[in-house]
Amino acid sequence: MRTGSMRVADISVGAIRKNVGRIRELTGDANVIVVVKAGGYGHGAEIVARAAVAGGATMIATADLEEALQLRECGIDAPLLCWLHGPRVDFVPAIEQSIDVGISHLRQLEALAQAARSTGRRATLQFKVDTGLSRNGASRDEWDALFARGAELEREGLVSVRGIFSHLANAGEEADLAQGANFDEAIAMLRAAGCEPELIHLAASAALFTRPELYYNTVRVGVVAYGLSPIAGKNSAQLGLTPAMTLRSEVVALRGVPAGTGVSYGFNHICEVATTLALVPVGYADGMPRALNGAGAWVTIAGEACPIVGRIGMDQFIVDVGRLGGRIDLGEPVVLFGNPERGFPSIDIWAALMRTIHYEILVGIGPRVLRRAVDEDAA
Ligand SMILES: *Cc1c(COP(=O)(O)O)cnc(C)c1O
Repeated sequence: MRTGSMRVADISVGAIRKNVGRIRELTGDANVIVVVKAGGYGHGAEIVARAAVAGGATMIATADLEEALQLRECGIDAPLLCWLHGPRVDFVPAIEQSIDVGISHLRQLEALAQAARSTGRRATLQFKVDTGLSRNGASRDEWDALFARGAELEREGLVSVRGIFSHLANAGEEADLAQGANFDEAIAMLRAAGCEPELIHLAASAALFTRPELYYNTVRVGVVAYGLSPIAGKNSAQLGLTPAMTLRSEVVALRGVPAGTGVSYGFNHICEVATTLALVPVGYADGMPRALNGAGAWVTIAGEACPIVGRIGMDQFIVDVGRLGGRIDLGEPVVLFGNPERGFPSIDIWAALMRTIHYEILVGIGPRVLRRAVDEDAA
């Protein structure tokens, strides 16, 4: 554990537990799979997995097998699922570590069966079907052969078919319901082939709040577990969610400057009046978007919103703290974003200024930022 880190992402495990509780409240008896791909959406996969399980998640999912194996190495013993595989993936460790494998086509299925033969242990799989997203997952014309072979391998004792799942395009109600109808057909075909899936899942975060009819017996959610809204125009608090990450730093230099002073590369900010500038050691290497320059973004220092001025560097940026009237010293805490209910800037502001989604900002937070589990927001 590094101490004295200048850049910290505090991860509220209490908030994650509460968010998973909120998901369970919405879904009733359904199983909740929490997705911790890409380092737990930048929060730290291990921290999130532990908090999610404590909050009642029934399974933890990643995209890559490698990510799931890393969770096992950390001692996470919850059920795990991964679903995005390259053509040369080795499924032996998945079987050895009891990780469910999402299977999208016949070649993957045969590779899994081969791994099961070589280890002498039964592999557990969940079929991933494409119902309209046109991304990962078996196409409709492959379902018959894929399910028939899965059933055959199950009878041979090489695999166990534990689930079937698909992913929505979030292209509106009609498109969602059409995907649901396709999914129903896939489920029926799998059953006709002789498999009884225990976990059936289609809804991710967006459908959690909009399509209860698509819950089946399981939901598979990412961003809501982190306390962020999947719905444009609705914020976390309106959905009963608590943002889990607070991105923090501290003031490492202070400088009084006269009116007319140019700030940072290119002098694209000139101080109109005499003021004080504070240096904050977070840059684009840490995921602070360079394009926030001149966009009107701010940070919270001593309870005040203070504007980010001048170009953002690889390691640092500058804040005009003139309005604080000299009442801060070196080491003063800086909050880049966090829970707006606690007076911090929302990550949604950055996402809006950057014309992107909060997901992209979260996963861009760099390796120099220490992820630290804290237990606040639990009440
Ligand atoms: C990332 C991902 C999810 C989680 O999506 P959210 O919008 O964060 O809930 C669920 N399913 C699949 C297949 C994914 O790739």
